[in-house]
Amino acid sequence: MNRIDLHTHSNCSDGSFSPKQLVQLASKVGLRALALTDHDTVAGVAEAVAAGKDLGVEVVPGVEISAEYPAGTMHILGYYFDTSHPELLKALEELQQARAERNPKIIERLQSLGLEITTAEVVNISGGQVGRPHIARALVERGYVSSIDEAFSRYLKKGGVAYVEKFRFPPQEAIAMIRRAGGLATLAHPFTLEIEDSRELTSLASELQEMGLEGIEVFYPDHTEEMTVLYHNLARGLALVSTGGSDFHGNLKDRSYLGEDILGQKVDYGLLQALKERLEER
Ligand code: AMP
Ligand code: FE
Ligand code: FE
Ligand code: ZN
Repeated sequence: MNRIDLHTHSNCSDGSFSPKQLVQLASKVGLRALALTDHDTVAGVAEAVAAGKDLGVEVVPGVEISAEYPAGTMHILGYYFDTSHPELLKALEELQQARAERNPKIIERLQSLGLEITTAEVVNISGGQVGRPHIARALVERGYVSSIDEAFSRYLKKGGVAYVEKFRFPPQEAIAMIRRAGGLATLAHPFTLEIEDSRELTSLASELQEMGLEGIEVFYPDHTEEMTVLYHNLARGLALVSTGGSDFHGNLKDRSYLGEDILGQKVDYGLLQALKERLEER
């Protein structure tokens, strides 16, 4: 039992399982370690850690923070920070506030396009914070689209007809707030940056590294084999830690499997070991 998953969401953000259910599932599928990386919140970490102790799953405290990036989407993952760090908690609250202000605007856009969807039903789908996946699920349940993916591609994706911008911290701040709370910052799913040119990607990754980034999520379900090789070499070349995760969201994402065997590459405990060594080197 050496498999791990370093990227998962609970119903504290936009996953469909509670933190405890998530850890139960991890135990069932035979994961040795699991990081809970909810968007902009650490509300589920304590419950996950407690469940992990009961079930013999090593739970890594984590978070996923969206950063400003004009072209594509940049998400920064944080691990092993102090989950009660006041400055970090304040920043996360600002992000939660931005999300709360944005959701009704998205729903208004959808309504103005003639889709009957209400805030109440979206809130009902979520366990806590509302995000676009809950709105997507509501559109599926109403029969306007047949999948979460279709809800995003037709309406909710960046630049889509019902897309509304929200406040994000610049990458430097997202990385710094994780580090100041004693944690490790890594770059999530680099393919969403939508950078085609490998030199451009390398130069961005080294800029992020100068800001304090320590790892790259190399193994990810949506990465092609070619991307995986590219990101792995990028990580090696810059001496960044390679990480991997499924980005599990339960039924709030299509094709979402916890501890997914990504492209036949086992995301195993050695990756977590390398991450932990970075902490010890400090
Ligand atoms: P929000 O935090 O409300 O902006 O929603 C972002 C979340 O929506 C991401 O974390 C993903 O879970 C999901 N998401 C974003 N883009 C897509 C997409 N194209 N297809 C499916 N899910 C997506
Ligand atoms: Fe998400
Ligand atoms: Fe993400
Ligand atoms: Zn995620």
